[in-house]
Amino acid sequence: MRAALVVTGLILTASGALAHNDHGHHHHSHGEAQQEKKGHHGNGGHSHDHKHDHDHDEGSLGAHVHGQANLQLALEGTGVDLFFSSPAVNLLGFEHRPETDAQKEALDKAMNYFREMALVHPANGDCQVVSATVETPLADADFEGSHGDITVSQTLECSSALAGSRVQANVMTDWPDIESLQLQWLGDGGQGSQELTQGQQQFRP
Ligand SMILES: [Zn+2]
Repeated sequence: MRAALVVTGLILTASGALAHNDHGHHHHSHGEAQQEKKGHHGNGGHSHDHKHDHDHDEGSLGAHVHGQANLQLALEGTGVDLFFSSPAVNLLGFEHRPETDAQKEALDKAMNYFREMALVHPANGDCQVVSATVETPLADADFEGSHGDITVSQTLECSSALAGSRVQANVMTDWPDIESLQLQWLGDGGQGSQELTQGQQQFRP
C-alpha cells in the first residue's frame, strides 16, 4: 500500500500542475515578478537563483534553467496526459516579448507546434493530440520580462500503450536546443523518472 500512496501523491502533484496551468495569470505574474528581480543583468546575464522563488508550489516543475525542460506523463492504457515546461529560449532563442516579424513567427510556430504535435509517441507507433493548451507570458502584450517559460498540457491518444514499451520523446528531436529533459511518469507500469539528453531520446516507462 505504501507504493500506492506514493503513486497517489505523484498523481496529485501532476494533476495539480495541470490544473495550475489552466490559470494563465500565474505564469503572467511570475514573469513580472522575475522582471522586478532581474532588472539589471549584472551577473553575466542569467542567475538561476530566482527559480526557487516560483517553483515552491509546483515541486520540481517550472525550474527555469536554460537548456533544460520538464515533462510529466500520466499513462493510462493508450491515453496520455502530459505537462511540459521549458524556458522559452530553448524553443525561440529569446525570452522577451517578440518584437521583430521573425520573432513573432518563431513564437507562432512554437505555439502551433505544441497545440498540434504529440510530444511523445511509441517508438513503433504514433499518438494524436486530443486536446492541448499552450501558455507563455511572452504572448502577453504587456509582458516586460526577460525570462519566461512555455508550458504545454496535452491529452494524447496513442496507437498502443506507452507503459512497458519504448517511447520516443520527439520533442527533443524537434527542438534541439533542449539539451536535457527531466522526465517523470506514472501509470499502469508504475512510476519513474529519467533524464533524457539529445543522445538518448527514448525511455521505457
Ligand atoms: Zn531565462
